[in-house]
Amino acid sequence: MRTALVTGGSRGIGRAVALRLAADGFRVALTYTADDTAAKEVTGRIEQAGGSAFAVRADLGDPADTERLADHVADAFPALDVLVNNAGIAGSGPIAEETPQTYDRVFAVNVKGPFFLTRRLLPLIPDGGRIITITSGATRIAFPEGIAYAMTKGALRTFTLALAKELGPRGITVNDVAPGIIDTDANAAWLRGDPEAAAYAASRHALGRVGRPEEIAGAVAFLASPQASFITGSTIDATGGGNL
Ligand code: NDP
Repeated sequence: MRTALVTGGSRGIGRAVALRLAADGFRVALTYTADDTAAKEVTGRIEQAGGSAFAVRADLGDPADTERLADHVADAFPALDVLVNNAGIAGSGPIAEETPQTYDRVFAVNVKGPFFLTRRLLPLIPDGGRIITITSGATRIAFPEGIAYAMTKGALRTFTLALAKELGPRGITVNDVAPGIIDTDANAAWLRGDPEAAAYAASRHALGRVGRPEEIAGAVAFLASPQASFITGSTIDATGGGNL
């Protein structure tokens, strides 16, 4: 059975990715930081459908936790076919609102965590494996409303490009998926609680609506599949024709 690790797989986009990869036949490990109930809901649902899944609590902003997570995955899986670097947090907002502390935290979780997790798990990824990172439409569309966050996603884009080159000779592909605005808990307060803001968010996409987590999971599942074997160093722009 092929194996996959989805960071932040308990909610939102990561949850949809975990469910989709399990439906596609992967044994899935997922991570979360706080919400045990949400993590159990996902693993339970996968197991009910005849799949296999387990959850590990780990804060990617904490290097010791990241090490522990890698050890756990290495103990559970003989090899890791697909690594999905999904977990991420938003920064504080425009430049005036960032502090050295909020800046360090968003870079720790969004960049340093996936960087060192990937480094630690590389020996477990077989030739032909896949590394897929969730970036953002904000890597190509100016997003001053979340400048430090957007910068972390730019760093992940560069990470993807460099790793794709390094790992190409082993047939490991490294790509990222850049979502537009997706209806997840991260956006719940304004998307679900403020009709005017929701209409504005919808208007910023050519398709006239925000995305669903399953629509990002579809792009990840494609990159994880044999159909995507000649795609590496690329971004799937899943922004609904977004103009953030
Ligand atoms: P959610 O906030 O809905 O879910 C976040 C997930 O990550 C949860 O499983 C959460 O677990 C976990 N998580 C949170 N903090 C950490 C941490 N410090 N270490 C490890 N895991 C953590 O997020 P989304 O689904 O909206 O976003 C997922 C990814 O997609 C992120 O990288 C985000 O930047 C990116 N993205 C999202 C967009 C959107 O519009 N939603 C747009 C573009 C990109 P727990 O609940 O236990 O804390």
